Amino acid sequence: MDQSNSKMALTGHVLIVAGTDPTGGAGIVRDIETTAHFHVKAGLAITSVNVQDDRQVAATMPVTADILRGQMLTALKAHPIGAIKIGMTGSVAVVEAICSVIDDFPQIPIILDPVIAASSGGLLADHDTVEAITMKLIRYADLLTPNLNELALLSGNELARDKSGALSQARELLALGAKHVLVKGGHASGDASVDSLVSDTVVTDYSMPRLHGTMRGTGCMLSTAVACQLVLGKKLPQAVEIAKKYVYAALIESGLEYNTQS
Ligand code: PLP
Repeated sequence: MDQSNSKMALTGHVLIVAGTDPTGGAGIVRDIETTAHFHVKAGLAITSVNVQDDRQVAATMPVTADILRGQMLTALKAHPIGAIKIGMTGSVAVVEAICSVIDDFPQIPIILDPVIAASSGGLLADHDTVEAITMKLIRYADLLTPNLNELALLSGNELARDKSGALSQARELLALGAKHVLVKGGHASGDASVDSLVSDTVVTDYSMPRLHGTMRGTGCMLSTAVACQLVLGKKLPQAVEIAKKYVYAALIESGLEYNTQS
């Protein structure tokens, strides 16, 4: 199989299924900013209402399964949905509710950003939720977008020490049913920040100069940007390329610079 998406999303809204950050640094605010940037309409199902900022996650309140299902089904009824982006889930009940809904919409591409922790270090998924994501949700993902920490946790391994280790962990997630895994190298080292799009047969690398510093919410932006590009008719490899350039431009705009020390 090549890396063109088997499900073509030609038009419609992106349905965002994600959690909140009152500061706007991550989560739904970033998602909606991204859909607005690409002039794609959004529907919304909130998974968890959170109290968090750049330093900590003070509290999370996942919604009930009924509320989650109700939001998703209402969004799916109101407009044609061309892609679903799933970010923070927050509880086993939410993961199961998402699965029960998307099971009835097999034609819609699913982009899954498997959010486990914020970059503040605060946890956004407990052990059982990580297990539910792994055993129940990953199989629906046309694209899964883990960073290196998430890749290790979901595949039940130590942090990959090099690229070949990361790729073999990604293949373990393909074996769980994800169609493609985008391994994000933002937290690795080296002069370039390289993301690898991995399918059963092909690995495609996307490289950008590594910037000095960090910005929150980049994972949310990247996965939502891919969902937008699918809705706009792009195939997956080009959707990822455009999404990566979009996040890079946002990093530059926020004041990050080339790492001149390396
Ligand atoms: N909080 C929420 C609600 C998120 O969806 C995400 C998404 O990745 C994060 C936090 C993590 O963002 P960051 O790693 O930038 O803290």
